Amino acid sequence: MSELQISTQSPAHDLTPNLTQELAEQIAHELTHGEQIPIAFLVRDQTIYFSRAEMRAHTPYSPVVHLIQGIYDLDPLNAFRFVRKRIYTTARLTPMCLGMVKVAAQRVSELSRPRDHQLKFHFDLREIIPRKMLPSALTQLFLNQSPIRFQSVPEAMNHARALTHQVSQAEQRYESDRPIAALLLSRDLKLLEFAVNTNARNRTLHAEVNLIQTYYARTGSAVPSDSFIISTRKPCRMCAGMIWHCAEDIQNLNIIYDEEDTGPNARSTILNAESYDRKRFVSAPHLISLQPEKRLTESVAKARSPLDLISVI
Ligand SMILES: [Zn+2]
Repeated sequence: MSELQISTQSPAHDLTPNLTQELAEQIAHELTHGEQIPIAFLVRDQTIYFSRAEMRAHTPYSPVVHLIQGIYDLDPLNAFRFVRKRIYTTARLTPMCLGMVKVAAQRVSELSRPRDHQLKFHFDLREIIPRKMLPSALTQLFLNQSPIRFQSVPEAMNHARALTHQVSQAEQRYESDRPIAALLLSRDLKLLEFAVNTNARNRTLHAEVNLIQTYYARTGSAVPSDSFIISTRKPCRMCAGMIWHCAEDIQNLNIIYDEEDTGPNARSTILNAESYDRKRFVSAPHLISLQPEKRLTESVAKARSPLDLISVI
């Protein structure tokens, strides 16, 4: 299959007007054909770019995620301008979708009811095929045959810090980017997956997104209950949203980070109790006050297991 190029001669000046609600509903109506599979789309340069995907609990994909990641993959140089157009989706928005929109795109609207308004439109159609996130054979061999088990959370963090040296200069394209690595550990601190930031060409590929999507591709599993996510930096809004969405049981997940991130995208995320994102998506009081994310402090450093961690906080 030949690679689809997003065609544009003047990417900064798209003449496609913003859609009316009725026209967006009409497009959604025609794209879904009454099927139940949700879609996401945006219109740019007289072309509708769209993705479809089932919404599954604890899975790191949705139509919005496919659309944004797919557009970055297809045309890294122009993608950011494309995804600044309003994205419409017939799926229920999750913290994962909203986080990715806020960090790597701009605006999104839910279209709860695609409808036939008898409107005509003359746009081209381009389906954005989901990206494939596959771990290298070497990684697979490494994780399956040479399991690493850490003695402590600080030891795991040291391993993550060492991994940041694997992040190339090319990946540090944006001012806000630094070498970042993330690990997924089992309850007994066995290494389940690792990843680094690779967002030079695709703004969505932060270390934690790579971690969760690669783990899912390899195992077909959610982020396991009682596991640890270790990150060298406080997860941003996008990564936090994906962690929250993909956790098998967010009440039994521990996110430990090293450096603070004072940027606007990480100050208050869904992983932080009482945050705006938390209140938007959660109503149960015990979930509003949950704080699964902790900075690596001396008391956290002493923890050897999730149970220890609960006792030292
Ligand atoms: Zn992030």
